[in-house]
Amino acid sequence: MRAIVLDAVRADPQVRDVPAPTAPAGGVVVEVRATGLCRSDWHAWAGHEDLVFPHVPGHELAGVVSEVGTGVTRWAVGDRVTTPFVCGCGRCSWCRGGDAQVCPDQQQPGFTHWGSFAQHVALHAADTNLVAVPDDVELATAAALGCRFATAYRALVARARVAADEWVVVVGAGGVGLSAVMIARALGARVVAVDRTTAALDVARRLGAIAWELDLLGSHGMAASDYPEMMALVAEGRLRPDLLLERTVDLDTAAALLPTFDTATVAGLTIIDPWR
Ligand SMILES: [Zn+2]
Ligand SMILES: [Zn+2]
Repeated sequence: MRAIVLDAVRADPQVRDVPAPTAPAGGVVVEVRATGLCRSDWHAWAGHEDLVFPHVPGHELAGVVSEVGTGVTRWAVGDRVTTPFVCGCGRCSWCRGGDAQVCPDQQQPGFTHWGSFAQHVALHAADTNLVAVPDDVELATAAALGCRFATAYRALVARARVAADEWVVVVGAGGVGLSAVMIARALGARVVAVDRTTAALDVARRLGAIAWELDLLGSHGMAASDYPEMMALVAEGRLRPDLLLERTVDLDTAAALLPTFDTATVAGLTIIDPWR
């Protein structure tokens, strides 16, 4: 299969043929139809993650199940699926309690094993981690949900519990920030978005936690079990992550973009089609 391969920290990403994965026990292989290019992939390229080389990055994906491993009960070849970027083990108390996003034995495609900048990707614990993509949601749109959109959704809906007419300040209009603006608006909140400038940071500081009773909440992605509510809003058109998609590129273009992605001035999400 064709894939973007990293041979060493900060080496030029190479597009070449590599062996296709086989389905692990309890897991599946997904034929990747769309996969997002994310700043986290740049961090992997830049040596900020503990990778085994050669490595294939990519963690925001959607596609079609092409092989099913032993023990998988919920999925079949041909199913349209996506996955959170954090995949739980499926066995521990966090996973069984619906909090696979903080599983201590978690896997992350594109970091702990080869990811989705390829025509196929292996995913573990499929019954825990896969999410069905409805027929009326494009796979590129579903790929946009897996990392930045889900993180923003969980932060606003589950962690901050944003209600109508509350004010939401979004600092930084990157992938998470743009998603947060859209989701906060859909929740009926009033939104101020500021970008990464000195003036913007001064504003944020003036709004700071010393003067007001603000809470600082973390959000580390979202478990697959929490996806149906978000996916239903997407299918209904009340959330439009497709509006965040700026461009679709091929593997060669993505390989050239990756080393520059820390400074790239993009106005939305970049999606890779590995079959172009
Ligand atoms: Zn990402
Ligand atoms: Zn687990």
